[in-house]
Amino acid sequence: MDLLQWPVVGRIFGWRHARRLFQLPALALALIMIWDGLTGPAFAPKNLVTTLGWIHLRGLLAVVLLGAGNFFCFACPLVLVRDFARKFWTPRLNWPRPLRTKWLSIGLFALVLFVYEAFHLWASPPLTAWLILAYFAGVVVIDALFKHATFCKFICPIGQFNFVASTLSPLEVQVREPAVCSGCATKDCIRGRRGEDDVVVQRGCELALFQPVKVGNLDCTFCLDCVHACPHDNVGIRSRVPAEELLIDSVRSGIGRLARRPDLSALAILFTFGALMNAFGMVSPIYTLERGLAAVTGVNSSTGIFALIFTLVVIVEPVVLLGLAAAVARGWGGLRASLPGIATRYSYALVPFGFGLWLAHYGFHLLTGLYTIVPLVQNAAQQYAGSAVLGPPRWNWVGVPVRFVQPIQFGFVVLGFLASLFLLREFAEEDAGPKWLRAFAPWAAVCLVLFGSGIWLILQPMDMRGTFLE
Ligand code: SF4
Ligand code: SF4
Repeated sequence: MDLLQWPVVGRIFGWRHARRLFQLPALALALIMIWDGLTGPAFAPKNLVTTLGWIHLRGLLAVVLLGAGNFFCFACPLVLVRDFARKFWTPRLNWPRPLRTKWLSIGLFALVLFVYEAFHLWASPPLTAWLILAYFAGVVVIDALFKHATFCKFICPIGQFNFVASTLSPLEVQVREPAVCSGCATKDCIRGRRGEDDVVVQRGCELALFQPVKVGNLDCTFCLDCVHACPHDNVGIRSRVPAEELLIDSVRSGIGRLARRPDLSALAILFTFGALMNAFGMVSPIYTLERGLAAVTGVNSSTGIFALIFTLVVIVEPVVLLGLAAAVARGWGGLRASLPGIATRYSYALVPFGFGLWLAHYGFHLLTGLYTIVPLVQNAAQQYAGSAVLGPPRWNWVGVPVRFVQPIQFGFVVLGFLASLFLLREFAEEDAGPKWLRAFAPWAAVCLVLFGSGIWLILQPMDMRGTFLE
């Protein structure tokens, strides 16, 4: 199946300016949200930036990644602003070679997760608005200085989340006929298509992904530049088996081998354990734990105590669990690689569970706060138009009752768990042959611990953040 060959959808996405069609409304929405965040209601459930940002858009992002692909990066308004800025300023520098890894973006991703919880961003419209503004400033400054899509590939925390989650997506920007690439003389998909006077009229892949040797969705923003640049119309948005790419360890264009990328593995681990931390931050047992740790350590600062919990969940727990699993798989299952090598390889198999938990969490907020979009828009219209042009806000419109949402949450976590087990088994069979069960068992145990934690989290009463009935 190739989305670009569908009757109407294919024509829309195949149009050269399709990205602008989505980016412009996204930019308008971002500006409205920022404005409301800085000048609108201080009460977060009544403010567009906190409710749309932390409830609706996050949920929608996860659903689109699961059902289609990285279309949020496709519609990203940051890139629109960056492209506009580049009309006046041409970047001259290349991103320094030592920084061409994911480590910086991993740090920023962890920082956003930490700041969100420690400084209650969901409850603060001004802070949320400033965070979005910081994103805009970041992309303009970085990409004004450095060539290509430096911000997307090496810095953007949302982009890294999308890259990892999109390994589970059913669509991929992919070559249609490999044989056509073999005979292609120009390689415009990476170099860009040139017109008269050798001027680039359509840029090639800014993320350094060369279509014929590109594997999977990692680092792909779905920008479709390669689609428009290819002179042979040989790139499509094609269906594939979700998560299968996590098993592939061949050399990938712009990435290399997954097993030799400890930074990508760390990103996958942060993605997975960050899902646990983010959900744990919203259930009531964390308050009991915080009080207990404060009593034991004598630390009075709530930020300090939260930093301790964050470090335990996001750093100590994965190091211990993955280290133990790798050691047992090596000693008992006869794997030959080093402990870090084994942990790196098998960490990718945990991504489906992590995505299942993100979906369960974001889906919970999206569905339980789904209808709040109506009173929010009514309230904003009333506020800015001076009268209730869309009627008085119906604040009693909230969302789907929790009892209907919980089974969906369980479904996501169970599916993620099963997919992770399947990947672990494939790795174990490949590495240990007939003794695969010995290599598989310790990793299955890690998966079981994560699964048990995920189910426990879903069963806890979760904060109804951002909804009026909070
Ligand atoms: S995708 Fe198109 S431009 Fe790129 S190598 Fe293949 S045929 Fe050439
Ligand atoms: S140009 Fe690169 S990032 Fe954009 S869709 Fe093609 S492969 Fe993905």
